[in-house]
Amino acid sequence: MNTAVKIVSLLLGVMLVALAVMSAGCNTKIPVASESSAHASTESFEDTQSTDGAESTDSTEGEENSSNNTDESTSPEQSTSSEDVSSEESEDSGSEASEESSEDVIVDPSEGTGDNSPYGDDYYTYTTDISKFYEAIVLPDSPDKFLVLVNKENKLGRNDVPENLVDCVNTRDDGRDTQKLVYEAELALQAFLNEARAFGFDDVSVTSAYRSYYTQDYLFDKYVENELHKFDTREEAEEYVSTYSSRPGTSEHQTGLCVDMHNLSSASQSFGSTDAAKWLEENAYKFGFILRYPKDKEDVTEIMWEPWHFRFVGRYHATRIHELGLCLEEYIETYYPEQIQD
Ligand SMILES: [Zn+2]
Repeated sequence: MNTAVKIVSLLLGVMLVALAVMSAGCNTKIPVASESSAHASTESFEDTQSTDGAESTDSTEGEENSSNNTDESTSPEQSTSSEDVSSEESEDSGSEASEESSEDVIVDPSEGTGDNSPYGDDYYTYTTDISKFYEAIVLPDSPDKFLVLVNKENKLGRNDVPENLVDCVNTRDDGRDTQKLVYEAELALQAFLNEARAFGFDDVSVTSAYRSYYTQDYLFDKYVENELHKFDTREEAEEYVSTYSSRPGTSEHQTGLCVDMHNLSSASQSFGSTDAAKWLEENAYKFGFILRYPKDKEDVTEIMWEPWHFRFVGRYHATRIHELGLCLEEYIETYYPEQIQD
């Protein structure tokens, strides 16, 4: 190799390193929904608490039903009555479709957060008119606004109450309390379920949405009391209860950004094998939602497959998560590590 060639290749190497450093430094700072919601007024919080403590307890009880379902407020009796769950699981019909990795379509996160979407509106097709819901779905001014991670390691505080909770119009009409959602998530959900109806899935309704810290605390405590006689210590009882009910502060329902929706009398993994569930999972991203606890990510989410639990993150991130085949934990840890709370 002569000197000129050496110099050129050296220069090329330096440029590549510089490029890598630049793109690594381009991560956008993201507002955390729960941080701003920590400042929610005491009055609004107490309102929520007083209605929630009594009422939505009733609506969540008798609701969720899945073995070892740690995300839901499942009663012990229900969580054990899930024989149909295991038989459904062997059918393996849930979420095999979304696995192709299409890295070449994916745009670097630093490029997409500034405007509407790296894919542009032409990327999406809708059967129904979404114009009324467009802003809520796309979040053009703040695409990262709802990219918050809540799980066993990333907890919310007792005073974290989302702002702008509104009535969820798709709450199941069976006498339960009208469920609440954050405004944008509620509008996006309306569009999502309008589209589902256009495809013939007209019997899916919301059975649970926002749940306060205190609701979860109340439920968890109640279950512990019920189980206490089986154990030597309260800690052991709590450990056991945490296999089917979230400890307060660790339920994503406290964000007001997720819903449980299905067409069964109570949530069950058997919903995952229905055409309705498959359609919802496949089309959620167009409306800013993701299936939060996929079947093939149980080891990462530490939550069993929940074909009924959908989480709103806005269309940009929902699309990327869908395309990449990641769950929210993997997506945030990979692209937005600064988003993870200490
Ligand atoms: Zn849920």
